[in-house]
Amino acid sequence: MSHYPLFANLNQRAVLLVGGGHVAERKAEALLKAGAIVYAVSGQWSARFKNWLDEGLIQNAGNTFASHLLDTVFLVVAATDDATLNTEVFQAAEAAGKFCNSVDNPAQCSFIVPAIIDRHPIQVAISSGGAAPVLARLWRQKIETLLPQHIGKTAALAGRFRAVVKQKLHNLTERRRFWERLFASDFDSHVARGDHRAAETVLHQQLQQHQPLKQGEVTLVGAGPGDAGLLTLNALQAMQAADVVLYDALVSAEILELVRRDAEKINVGKRAGAHQTQQEEINRLLVNYARQGKRVVRLKGGDPFVFGRGAEECQELVKAGIPFRIVPGVTAGLGATAYAGIPLTHRDYAQTALFITGHLRLDADDMQWHTLARGHQTLVIYMGTIKAEYISKELIAHGRAANTPVAVVSQGTMANQSVRTGQLSDLPSLAADAPTPALMIIGEVVKLREELSWFQKNNTPAIINTKTAA
Ligand code: SAH
Repeated sequence: MSHYPLFANLNQRAVLLVGGGHVAERKAEALLKAGAIVYAVSGQWSARFKNWLDEGLIQNAGNTFASHLLDTVFLVVAATDDATLNTEVFQAAEAAGKFCNSVDNPAQCSFIVPAIIDRHPIQVAISSGGAAPVLARLWRQKIETLLPQHIGKTAALAGRFRAVVKQKLHNLTERRRFWERLFASDFDSHVARGDHRAAETVLHQQLQQHQPLKQGEVTLVGAGPGDAGLLTLNALQAMQAADVVLYDALVSAEILELVRRDAEKINVGKRAGAHQTQQEEINRLLVNYARQGKRVVRLKGGDPFVFGRGAEECQELVKAGIPFRIVPGVTAGLGATAYAGIPLTHRDYAQTALFITGHLRLDADDMQWHTLARGHQTLVIYMGTIKAEYISKELIAHGRAANTPVAVVSQGTMANQSVRTGQLSDLPSLAADAPTPALMIIGEVVKLREELSWFQKNNTPAIINTKTAA
C-alpha cells in the first residue's frame, strides 16, 4: 500500500490554500464543501476568488506565502502556477509537519486527493497513488453506475438508529447480522421509493423479532490453485460474509486479500514437511467457532474434496450436528494443467485422466501399477515430487514407455508459475528441485504444450518499483 487511506473531517478546521487562480478555485470549492475554513494567499485573485473573499467565505491571508502561516492550519494546498513557490510551500509544510498537496506534482504531496463518488454520507474514494489518475477516474465512473442513487439516504436513515440497535443488541456479530438482514430486506426499497416511514417500521419490526443465532455454520470453500480469478461467485460471497476464516498454507495471499477485512483469519497449515496443525485441532476449532454462532469459512487450496481432507472435516461437523455447505473449487489438476497448456484428454492421446496422490503406500498391489502404466491415459499426480523416482521406475517397469512425455508444473496459475517438461525416465531430475506446490503430469498430452502454451508465454517479469509510484 503506497498511501494510507483516510477521510479527513475538515469541518471548521483551518486549511491554507496558496494560489488564487483557476486551479486553486477547484481546490477551494472542494474544501468549502467539506466545511473547511479556507485561508488563501495570492498576489492575484480570480473573479471567483474576489467574490468568495467579499462574501467572507474565504479568508484573505495576504499576498505572499510565509511559513508562519502554517502554524494554525491542519492542511496546506499549493496550487499556484509557480513551481518554485509550490516547492517552497511543500518544503515549509514538511518542516512544520503539516500535510501538503502540491497540485499536479506527486513528488511534492504528503497527501493526495482521490477521485470520489459522493452520495452523502456514503463516499467512495479511488486512487492510483498518483500513478494513473485518469484510470482511477475511469473506474470511479464504472463504480458510480453500480451504486444506487438512494444509497446515501439508506445510510443516513440507518445512522439515526445506530444507537438504538446498539442498545438492544450488545454483541458485535449480532449487530452485523441484523444490519445485513435489514439492508437485504424491504427497508432499502422503501427508502428508494422515498417512504421513510415504511422503512422505519421494517427496522423496528426486525429489531423486535431479531433472534440471536445459537448455532453458526461452516462453509468449506475451495479457493482454487492460486489465481484469484478462478474463485467462484459462491466462494467470494462466503469469504465476504465470514466471521472466522481458517485457511491452509496453499491459499494464495491474493485470495486472502478478498476475505472480509474484519474477519478473524487463522492460518492452520504449514507447508508439507514443516509441522502441521493437527487435523484434530482444526476439527476442534471448526466445531467451537460454529458453536459460538459464528459463520466459519474453511478455506482450502484447490477443491476441498480433492486430496483436501474436506470429507473428514465434514464428518466431524455431522457428528457435532453443525450445518455446513461446500463450495467446490478449481482443483490443481484442472487449473495448473490448463495454465500450462496441457489438456487432460485428447481424442488422439488420452481417453482417461487419473488424479493420484503421491502419498502412496509403498505397496505395489495397493497401487495397481499395471492399470496406472497403461497407455492412452493421463496421470495427474498430486503431492508426488518426493516420490518421483519411485513412481517413474514402477511405471516403466510395468510397461509405460520410458519416453512418455511428462511435465512438472510448479505454482500453477500463479504469476510465478514454472513448467518443466521431459520424458518419464527424467521425472526424478525434473521434480528434484521444482518449487512447490508442484503437480506431475504424465502422458502424451504433455506434447501439446508446445502448441498450446499460452500463460506467460513470453514472460519477462514486470519491473515494478513501488517507490516511484507517487
Ligand atoms: N485440494 C487441493 C490439493 C491439495 S494436495 C486441490 O484440489 O488442488 C496438495 C497438492 O496439490 C500439492 O502437493 C500439489 O501437488 C498440488 N497443488 C496445489 N496447488 C497447486 C498449484 N498451484 N500448482 C501445482 N500444484 C498444486
